Amino acid sequence: MPTHQAVQVESTGGPLGLVEVQTTSPGRDHVRIDVAACGVCGTDRAIINGAFPGTAFPLTPGHEIAGTIAEVGEGVEGFTVGDRVAVRVTKSLRRPRTTFAMFETAGETSNRLEAT
Ligand SMILES: [Zn+2]
Repeated sequence: MPTHQAVQVESTGGPLGLVEVQTTSPGRDHVRIDVAACGVCGTDRAIINGAFPGTAFPLTPGHEIAGTIAEVGEGVEGFTVGDRVAVRVTKSLRRPRTTFAMFETAGETSNRLEAT
């Protein structure tokens, strides 16, 4: 199985560390992105430090991502391998089990809703 490097935190409040992780194929309605750049901000710091109970560790922080679509899962429409995208992922306080991902590609913005 292919692998890639990721920066992860092993547990709440832990240090950032570079690790090798398995690269998995995207599931239905998901895409895999080769990340070219990823912002790690104050929200990520709060998540690392336990501000969002129920956060699963190990955790790869970063929710503002730019890269290229590397693989497209079943049911995905409007994106193809090679599309350059910018993604902002956020949680809804009203629907905490839902992650919203906003994709921008070729100057167009579309909202995607993904259940996690
Ligand atoms: Zn942020």
